[in-house]
Order: sequence, then C-alpha cells, then structure tokens
Amino acid sequence: MRLSAFAIATCVAFQLVGCALSSAPSAPAIRWLSMPALQASLAGTPPMAVGFDIDDTVLFSSPCFYAGQQKYSPGSEAYLHNPAFWQALNGGCDRYSIPKQSARALIALHQQRGDRIYFITGRPHTDHEQLTALLARTFAISNMQPVVFNSGPEKTRFIHDRHLKIYYGDADSDITSAREAGARPVRVMRAANSTYQPLPVNGALGEEVLEHSTY
Ligand SMILES: [Mg+2]
Repeated sequence: MRLSAFAIATCVAFQLVGCALSSAPSAPAIRWLSMPALQASLAGTPPMAVGFDIDDTVLFSSPCFYAGQQKYSPGSEAYLHNPAFWQALNGGCDRYSIPKQSARALIALHQQRGDRIYFITGRPHTDHEQLTALLARTFAISNMQPVVFNSGPEKTRFIHDRHLKIYYGDADSDITSAREAGARPVRVMRAANSTYQPLPVNGALGEEVLEHSTY
C-alpha cells in the first residue's frame, strides 16, 4: 500500500515535471546561415545590389566609440549627442576600428558575383567624411558607392529605392528595415564586447543569422 502510494506520488511528480517542461515557452530555432549555404542560395541569380550596415556589421568600431566617450563624456552617453564626436568618428577615427573577418568574406563573395555594394549607417552625416575611402581601401571594393549617412536606424526607404536584394546588419532595426523594403535580411552578430549594449537577440525576428559572424 505504501509502495503504491509512493509510486503514485512519483508518477504525479514526473507528470508535473513533464507538464512544466511542455508548458515552458520554447524559443524558435535559429535559422543559421553558413557562407556555403548563402553562396548556394545565390547561384544562378544575376548580379544584384546588396547593402551593409557598418557599425558591428563590417567594422568593430567600439574602440572609436569608447575613445569618444572617454574624451567627451566619461561615464555617460552624452558624447553620442556631441557633433564633435561624430565629426571625429567619420573623419578618420575608423582607422582604429577593426574590420570583421565575416564582412571580408561576405564582401568578397558579392564582389565575385559582380554585385554592387552599398553601405548605410545610422551615423549622422558630417563634412569631410573619411569612411567611404576607408571602407573601399579596407575591403578592396571596386566601384565604391558613397556611404549613406542615415542619421538614424530607419533604413527602409534607401533599401527600397536602391532595390537592395539583401541587407546585412546586426541591429533589429536593420532586419525590420530590410523586411519592410522587401529585401532579404541577414543578421550579422554583434560582438559580445561591443560598446553598443544590450546585445540584440539573434534570430528573434525569424531572420537568417550568419554563422561565425561575431568577428
Ligand atoms: Mg550596426
């Protein structure tokens, strides 16, 4: 009798556990995208226009943002509202930004296909920007287009107007802008030690996430 009561109690306990497990919210599986899979998905398609976000997508630019914070507003985010910071950032600081290896591979793939490459950044426009020349040099881009300084995260109009077929970015706004413009969004992962926190949740919007793209 005692044994059977124990058995029943055990059974109930397991059922509760089972119930708890089954009712736990299950995160949707991330749609990982490898470079070979990306290449295969583009096979047979004619040359196209594609776009890239800059900060944390093609450049690990946190060194410049950190330096800017130290110089203009130690301990606060006020430097992000200081035109002098943006002037210095766009005006050549990116020689200290670390190019991402994943971006080199993506850009090489698209150039091999003959695709036209655009860069769109949420940074504000400043006079005498050096970013266009620096990116062209760093990533050996032929037929370089001027960087688009968007002064904000909303990039839908540009992606739409330039008929970009793929848009790569690390922020949720990159993914949503691409989607609204009818482009294929691909998430490039932001490095965990980026100054831009909190980190986005990769794959949270159901988008493809590029493997090994934190660096
Ligand atoms: Mg970014």
